[in-house]
Order: sequence, then structure tokens, then C-alpha cells
Amino acid sequence: MIEIRPAWAWLPDGLHSGVSVFIDENGRIASVEKTDAPPHQDLEDVALFPGFVNAHSHAFQWGLRGLVQNEESEGNFFSWRDRMFDLANTLNPEEIYRLSLSAFKAMRASGYTAVGEFHYVHHQPDGTPYNRPTELAEAVIEAARKTGLRICLLHTAYLRPSGVDDRLSPGQSRFIDPSAEVFLARHQMLLDTIERMGDDRVTAGVAPHSIRTVPLEAISLLMKQTKGPFHLHINEQPREISESLKEYGMRPLEVVSRAGALTSRTTLVHMTHAEEQEIQKAAQSGATICFCPTTESDLGDGIGPSKMALEHGINCSIGSDSQVQMNPFEEMRLLEQNERLKLQKRLVLPADINRTLSHRLLDVGTTGGALSLDLSAGAIKPGNWADFMEINLSDLDLLGADPACIPDIVVFSVSPRAVRGTWVGGQRNEAPPLFAGAIKDR
Ligand SMILES: [Zn+2]
Repeated sequence: MIEIRPAWAWLPDGLHSGVSVFIDENGRIASVEKTDAPPHQDLEDVALFPGFVNAHSHAFQWGLRGLVQNEESEGNFFSWRDRMFDLANTLNPEEIYRLSLSAFKAMRASGYTAVGEFHYVHHQPDGTPYNRPTELAEAVIEAARKTGLRICLLHTAYLRPSGVDDRLSPGQSRFIDPSAEVFLARHQMLLDTIERMGDDRVTAGVAPHSIRTVPLEAISLLMKQTKGPFHLHINEQPREISESLKEYGMRPLEVVSRAGALTSRTTLVHMTHAEEQEIQKAAQSGATICFCPTTESDLGDGIGPSKMALEHGINCSIGSDSQVQMNPFEEMRLLEQNERLKLQKRLVLPADINRTLSHRLLDVGTTGGALSLDLSAGAIKPGNWADFMEINLSDLDLLGADPACIPDIVVFSVSPRAVRGTWVGGQRNEAPPLFAGAIKDR
């Protein structure tokens, strides 16, 4: 049993001092207790928060940084996508591992302690499966294990180039399986491999890439034949909606609903161009929404309906998606800030006396992602994994802060520079010499 006694701890009901967090030998929180003892010497300047949960990531897109901000002509989502296909086409398993490792290191250093990795590069460049068909998924998982990040591998099904435009782009062959059955066979292999790993930081879910690339019947089959988190990109671009109307005569969310895939297992990634009735329908189903505002702004997608989603009581989460920024604080606060720009008002997302705006946003960054990925994480409470982020109260952004203001400053002002360290399953990311004396056997 180890004890951590920080100066401050963010618990489900707010910020507290005089708290001891006990971690059991399995890496879970055994108890959270009141104490009169002073903080551990090395934690006098630390506020302990739950680690952020990154509910939507494509790790290999770390390699796109710096390559997609110049085009010969005006760019858009689809010209960006061509560059992404070009990159995907060049990667071998070692490079997938290397890029994933960089992305995951940066994630952990910025305060994320878990990732939902939406993984869709499966095959060799000509579309031939590897001898071990799960080789690339395993490379991504190994990179996460190397950094100690908790990972839910969202094994992605991609069955056609696009619904109404079936031209195959270079690079896409690596993503595409000939049928849902072939995908499901590989999914079983992946589940077996993960079971053999015996690492409780590694879990899996299923992700039909989008309604563009997976037909309705296949989405339906995947929902029926699998368990666990079920993620898909949806309503990201107006073109997706017009293609859906052309192919099915209905909007994308209706396609998912007809497939029987709008459930409490489902996370709808983006929903940028959703209408209010779609938000209402999602709310009734218990589905969750993941917003990725730094990527959505980089791609020119638009501003997602975070206000509407939270007003309808939908569980929301954040994702670093294309990795254009590795900054969970920014993903979280942009849900409010973008609405302010749009509405020319302040304090826009729903909040009340019991849950302030900052509290709501911290929940989106932590418990929201944990629910989406079906993880016992996201809050400092008994039974959950001991996944934490240490906020350095000596960081420049927090200098002279009144303790009562710490949550608001963390949500609206700090950068990842304030993250002094993270814990996953009771393991700190590094063992700084000063910290060694701060934990002790009970
Ligand atoms: Zn994505």
C-alpha cells in the first residue's frame, strides 16, 4: 500500500486539503481519507488531479505535424486527408511504433493518463495483410505500454473508400478489409493477443470508421457481434451529410440509429454539424460525444455543439485526434471558449452552484473520457485506477494563486508546463529523486 498526501486533491466534490490517497498493490485507489498530517514534503506544492482521458487519438498522425500547414492552393479537410493518406502509405511497423511512442510520450507529459486509440492502419501498403494481421495494432499497444499510458485500442473497421465515391486513394488500401467478417476475425485475434499480454492497462473496443467507409448493414453486424466501447466519426463535414442523404436518404445519425448502433456503448466523435434533434436523439440513447476542438479548428471542420450536448445531459469527452496540439487543457477549455466566440457571450456552458463551469469542464476531460472508454478512471475515488496528474503550484501560471481559484486557473489558464508528473495504475511516470521519500508503506 502506498500513501500520497498532496497539498490539495481534486475529488469528485471539489478541491480539498488534508487528504491522503492510499493505493493498493494492484494500482487501484484503496481509500481516500481525511488527515491532519501535513502534506508529504515533496508534495507541498502539488495539487493532485485525476489524469486526463484522451478519448480520440490517431497516434501515427504525430508524423503529420509540420507537414500540413502549406498547400499549393487553398486547403480543406479533403486535401489534408490526402496528405494523411500519403503519410500512412510510407509507414512500416517500426515507424508506426516510433511515431506512436512520440505521441504517447507527449500525451503523458501533458497530463493524459489514458488514450482511446482509433487505429485503422492495418495492412501492408498494397493492402496485403501482414503475416500476423494484428502486427500494427500491436506496435501501437507496445508503444503505449512503453510509456506506461493506459490504452483502449479502438480497433477500426474500414470497408470501402467512401459510400458515393468509390475511387481508392493511394494509402487507403492499408485500412480496408474486404468484409465485416474478415474484420471480426482479426478483432478476435486482437482480443486473444491482449488477453495473453495480461496487462490491465490494455483494453479494446470497436470503431466503424464512419458511415462513409462502413455500410449500414456492416455497422449493424459489428454492434451485434462485439462488446465494449463502440466509437465512430460522425457529422464532421457537411459533405458527409450530403453523401449520406444521397446514399441512404437520411442524415448520418439516422443511419447509425437504423443500424441499431446508437446505444450507451456508442461514442459519436465530432458531431460538428449535428442538428438539435440529433443531439436530442443521441441523449435519449445514452450515447456519448467526443469533441476534438484543436483538430476541428485545424481542419476547418467548424465548432461542435458542446453547449447543446451538455444542456441535453450528454456525457462528453475530449480527444487529441490529429495531434496538432498535445494540450488537454486547451481541448477542454475550447468547448467553452469556442461557444463564447460564436455567441459573443461569456459563461455559456451549463453550470450551477454544485458544479461550476470549471468542474463541468474537468469532468469532460476526465470522467467523460473514462465513461466513453469504459475505464474505472477519471476521478480520485476508491476502486478507480490510481491515474493522476500532479499540478505544480509553483508553475508561473499559478504563482500567488488563492487556493480557491486553483480549479478555475487550471481549467482556463495553465498549459501542460504545469504538469509535474503523472501516475498510471499507481506508477509514477518517472521517479524523481526528491519524490522517492514522499511515498511510504502504510
Ligand atoms: Zn479522428
